[in-house]
Amino acid sequence: MTEQYSETIAGLSKDLRDKKYSAVELTQYFLRRIASSNKILNAIITTTQEQALAAANEADQHIAAGDTNPLTGIPLLHKDIFCTDGIRTSCGSRMLDNFIAPYDATVVAKLHGAGAVMLGKTNMDEFAMGSSNENSYYGPVRNPWDIERVPGGSSGGSAAAVAARLAPAATGSDTGGSIRQPAALCGVTGLKPTYGRVSRYGMVAFASSLDQAGTLTTDARDAALMLNVMAGPDHRDSTSIDHPVPDYSATLDDDISGLRIGIPKESFDEELDDSIATQVNAAIKQLEARGASVKEITLPNMKKAAVAAYYVVASAECSSNLSRMDGVRFGYRCEHPKDLADMYARSRGEAFSREVKRRIMIGTYTLSAGFYDAYYLKAQKVRRVIAEDFRRAFSDIDVIAGPTTPETAFKLKDKTDDPIRMYLSDIYTIAVNLAGLPGISIPCGFSQGLPIGLHLIGNMFDEARLLNVAHQYQQDTDWHRQIPEQIQPGDS
Ligand code: GLN
Repeated sequence: MTEQYSETIAGLSKDLRDKKYSAVELTQYFLRRIASSNKILNAIITTTQEQALAAANEADQHIAAGDTNPLTGIPLLHKDIFCTDGIRTSCGSRMLDNFIAPYDATVVAKLHGAGAVMLGKTNMDEFAMGSSNENSYYGPVRNPWDIERVPGGSSGGSAAAVAARLAPAATGSDTGGSIRQPAALCGVTGLKPTYGRVSRYGMVAFASSLDQAGTLTTDARDAALMLNVMAGPDHRDSTSIDHPVPDYSATLDDDISGLRIGIPKESFDEELDDSIATQVNAAIKQLEARGASVKEITLPNMKKAAVAAYYVVASAECSSNLSRMDGVRFGYRCEHPKDLADMYARSRGEAFSREVKRRIMIGTYTLSAGFYDAYYLKAQKVRRVIAEDFRRAFSDIDVIAGPTTPETAFKLKDKTDDPIRMYLSDIYTIAVNLAGLPGISIPCGFSQGLPIGLHLIGNMFDEARLLNVAHQYQQDTDWHRQIPEQIQPGDS
């Protein structure tokens, strides 16, 4: 960052309170950064300049009156999967290109209520289906570390925007890795909370039993500040869980000596890029230097079986969730339909991309009377086995550590013709969603100028521990402070 503006929410919040600059000035600064860099990155679909300046102005008044909420006046971006009252919520799809949400998602409302300033909505894979952000109706997002490469997906816009410091933080959603994988590929901190920790109300549904809202930030301290606001039950989401919400910031500085880390042997095999293995191992050593102990564990189904089960369950759920996108209740309607059937068929045919259609077809097939037992029911059983593997592992360890992704950011178009290769991008993250557990990816090095992510998995509702471990690691390292050269701040 420039001398003037701090790099983190925590730093900006202190500066705002010390009157180094106003929330309006800060908002204008990020709006200028978006105006100059987004042309290249395409990380943001909609910029909400007017609303942002009005909210910043209000925040300044609150700060002047002594408001001490750490998010007051902090600019941030929302993934375009979250409904925002009066503002287009496209979910990266032509289908919702014309959809103005009539209400705020709970996540959006809570962050707004805490004084945060929304700068705009980030690009994403259509309906959060993808691992490269190339499935967006609005075009691909580019990775700020190398604009010929993908940022990961589906929260690629949020990850790229935070990496390029177009905002200090952004929201994301993670169904099979969509926060953690782009966080790893863009060199930012991505937190996927326990299923049910954060309300899904107003977050466009992809696979309801797997979707979870979370954060993309520069560091774990900021993720804690965001989660403090976002977490908690919501009467509008019956799957949100009424479990006590601790102060996630309070335990960041706790000593981690005695921490028991499990390393799944399945994470380090021939599919893993050597440079990633080296950096992840070095990161684990760093945690050992702080007094953690390490033990090899086995999660025999965490990879291939998990990916297979995921694509049955997620596709089944999406085929049902997306049935509401019919051009009548929601979204795009084709021109001059011949009759009702033609209108449904053509509206959906014209508005959904190939990938979304592929998933709807797989999902419809696996839920059909003849194949339900063979695929859907079987996948649910595999899911149960995976959850059980984790439960067993956590009986004598505290966290699981490994790589977030098998490789660093790949070239645009590299995998678009091969869905299976694309699906394998989430091979280390998907099992966590099937089991409903929390996970975080934090920057732990570079390979040929591209960021690498360390993946930490926690037990149910153990976000505080994940954030504590991540924060301790970030005290010893500065990977998370690196900023892509092509996008250095200060010039705007
Ligand atoms: N890449 C995975 C998919 O395409 C996961 C997406 C997600 O987490 N939203 O389904």
